[in-house]
Amino acid sequence: MWNPDKYLENLYEKNRPKFKFDVRHMDEYTRWRDGLREIFARDLGGFPKPEVDLSPTVVEEREYPDYLMQRVVYAGDVDLPIPAYLLKPKNASGKLPAVVACHGHGYGSREIVGLNPDGTDNTGEPSYQKNFALELMRKGFIVIVPELLGFGDRRLKEDLDKEPNESSCHMISTYLLMMGKTMAGFRVNDVMRSIDYLETREDVDPDRIGTMGISGGGLVCSFAAALDTRIKAAVVSGYTNTFKDSVMSVFHCVDNFIPGVVNHAEMPDIIGLIAPRPLLVESGSDDPIFPIDATREAYEKIRAIYRFLDAEDKIDSDFFQGEHEISGRKAYDWLVKWL
Ligand SMILES: [Zn+2]
Repeated sequence: MWNPDKYLENLYEKNRPKFKFDVRHMDEYTRWRDGLREIFARDLGGFPKPEVDLSPTVVEEREYPDYLMQRVVYAGDVDLPIPAYLLKPKNASGKLPAVVACHGHGYGSREIVGLNPDGTDNTGEPSYQKNFALELMRKGFIVIVPELLGFGDRRLKEDLDKEPNESSCHMISTYLLMMGKTMAGFRVNDVMRSIDYLETREDVDPDRIGTMGISGGGLVCSFAAALDTRIKAAVVSGYTNTFKDSVMSVFHCVDNFIPGVVNHAEMPDIIGLIAPRPLLVESGSDDPIFPIDATREAYEKIRAIYRFLDAEDKIDSDFFQGEHEISGRKAYDWLVKWL
């Protein structure tokens, strides 16, 4: 037998991640948290510097019976504009809490705000992402939906004429990897810049900003929340797992891969950086690409970090009967509760 299966298993088993959570005292904890944040940001390829002005512009505005929708554009970096949808409930006044909503694979930001790929209103059944940005807006949040790099309007020119669900993930991710950067890092930057933008708005309360994302958007929102403490609460849907049992064992888009990350930490350690800020883990029992057994194991490891910080009331799960999709059974109210 010349197959390398066992060799690869051993390689992982022998690996001793430097920042695996194993902490007994508060000073150890602070070292763990700060050290992991620093090395994880480096694993992601770092973030664009120096910062360019956001220069936000509203390029389109629509009015619906109960909300307003804007297409806003702001700078992610030099020559890297980020278009986003902003949803605002009409019956609101004063400063509102806000959520950065991160879409997963599909046709981009339009898919979670009730639009078709061509921008017309989608009156049919929503996709696996269940229009969750719209649902959040209906709970009273201002919701910003950045078009994550590689999807929708942010595909490469050569991909714009393809099917709306065809992303530029492969080409951009591999290009960035050769430059020592990662798609994950760029998408986390998309979220951070979206928060920069929210902070410029008079109608947003900067102390009540949360995030929610599914699948690839679950990666983006959980990593952003792990690193950026301006995020005060998070819902991670269809992503929480171990790297070993998900992206290292089941075929996944190349945008998931971060060179060397497993030498430093496993996914539960990274998501555990969100503690003690409120976190809801949502996952379907029959999710084929982020298997639920590993999700449960990861959840227990994250919960141990909350327990260490005396914050077990700040973490919850919604393990629902379903597939790779949004549940929403607890998610929207969770964010209302904490924001
Ligand atoms: Zn992808």
